Amino acid sequence: MRKKLLSLIIAVVMTVLLVVPVNADIIDDGYNGFATRLYTVVLGRTPDPVGLEYWGNRLRTRNISFADCARGFLFSQEFLAKNVSDTEYVTVLYRTFLDREPESAGLDYWTGRLALGSVNRDTVIEGFSNSAEFGELCRRYSSSSSASNGITVCIDPGHSGVVASGYVPLGPGSSDMKLADTSGTRGRFSGVAEYVLTMQIANQLCTELEARGYNVIMTRTDNSTPVDCVTRAQIGNNGADIMVRLHFDGLDNSSVSGAHSIVIAPNNPWNPQTYAGSARLGRCIIDSYCSATGIRNRGVSEQNNMTGNNWSTIPCVLLEMGFMTNQHDDLYMTNPANHSAMVNGIANGIDAYFAS
Ligand SMILES: [Zn+2]
Repeated sequence: MRKKLLSLIIAVVMTVLLVVPVNADIIDDGYNGFATRLYTVVLGRTPDPVGLEYWGNRLRTRNISFADCARGFLFSQEFLAKNVSDTEYVTVLYRTFLDREPESAGLDYWTGRLALGSVNRDTVIEGFSNSAEFGELCRRYSSSSSASNGITVCIDPGHSGVVASGYVPLGPGSSDMKLADTSGTRGRFSGVAEYVLTMQIANQLCTELEARGYNVIMTRTDNSTPVDCVTRAQIGNNGADIMVRLHFDGLDNSSVSGAHSIVIAPNNPWNPQTYAGSARLGRCIIDSYCSATGIRNRGVSEQNNMTGNNWSTIPCVLLEMGFMTNQHDDLYMTNPANHSAMVNGIANGIDAYFAS
């Protein structure tokens, strides 16, 4: 009797162990929900944890749009290998973009045009992804992504491991051309590259802001993608309320230390309407950052020679978090133990900006 009971308990425990998800900390939000749907509808299978995390994160950080995410699945080797007929293909598009089965008139219309060769499969995707029905579906998924405060922050991690080449106008319509991007500075004492550190702080700031209810857009999420300064601004202009650009300073003179905010000047020829917001944002962030970190506060600089700032149509600040050529600043900022103080300082400044 006791033996039977024991084996029953073992059986129950084994069953419970088997149903525990492999990756228990997968986020249950609309972004992962959308990606999960694509696995089911397009690939006809349950998502693998690595793939789900990858697509969920790209959606969450606005690295990719809902439409491009769907396109990624529809052009994946896995889906292409299924070699579906036009009818099956259009049916999958209805399920993917409209979340429903096709009505016969619509199905006939699209399969007919595909058969005639007057459209290709990519054009059909465009038709579906531009529909109002799909827009509604996207809003449903992004709004189910929890306690949003309705504010979107664009974080621009300065520079990149691969520097965008060529030249871009200093401001919209300007004939004054500047380098599209630069390689940035490097820690004289730590040896850490600026673009590596801006990415680290940006990732942590993204997590912190999302935890505080902000939506976050990132201008880059890896160190191998070149992004020019006009594109950085345009990513922010496309849906963000404010733009926070993260940088570190460098100078030959290693005795110079401290952080400062750079914003446009009131006489900016391109987007002067953003001056007041930018100046206030710059002040909120620099004061809060310096009080959280103890880094010397060099205040707010107003200048019209920053391409990314000039192209921003939203309040924009370029935060120079300290000098990587100064021993104290460099060793402080590259020490991961100080990163949460740095990130909290910036996030508190953003809170203060929206609170006042
Ligand atoms: Zn920089």
